[in-house]
Amino acid sequence: MFSDISRALFRKPATENYPAVRQLNPPRLRSFLKWNQQACTGCSLCAMDCPANAIKVTIIDRKEKRFVFSYRPDMCLFCGQCVESCRQGSLSMVNDMWELASLDKKPFFVNFGDVDDLTKVLAGNTAGGSESPEKA
Ligand code: SF4
Ligand code: SF4
Repeated sequence: MFSDISRALFRKPATENYPAVRQLNPPRLRSFLKWNQQACTGCSLCAMDCPANAIKVTIIDRKEKRFVFSYRPDMCLFCGQCVESCRQGSLSMVNDMWELASLDKKPFFVNFGDVDDLTKVLAGNTAGGSESPEKA
């Protein structure tokens, strides 16, 4: 026991002094989801394949490529399935947005899209058509 104690006294701490000292993010770390509106076709494959039901694609006008992409980072498993499923390459996961804890719910309701379309969706007015797979 004494040898263990004396070893522990002179050993460097195994823990890291986070957040004062930060390690580099692994390049392939899957953190926050990013959506490229220009490439998106509104096919909703990402939403259908998401095992956590963390994605919703609302179609405002398919011809004009007006979509609202809603993402719930608090439900996301960071599995990357949606990125694999998107045939247009419009989804990617950045490696530097992993500190997502929050006391407020607001950061967990993320909506990408044009301002007018976001306003419509947030007001619940999507009369132009909505194809948003909802898995209960
Ligand atoms: S990373 Fe996985 S859980 Fe997260 S939105 Fe994509 S498919 Fe869903
Ligand atoms: S799978 Fe890709 S193209 Fe289809 S709705 Fe999702 S992000 Fe858009």
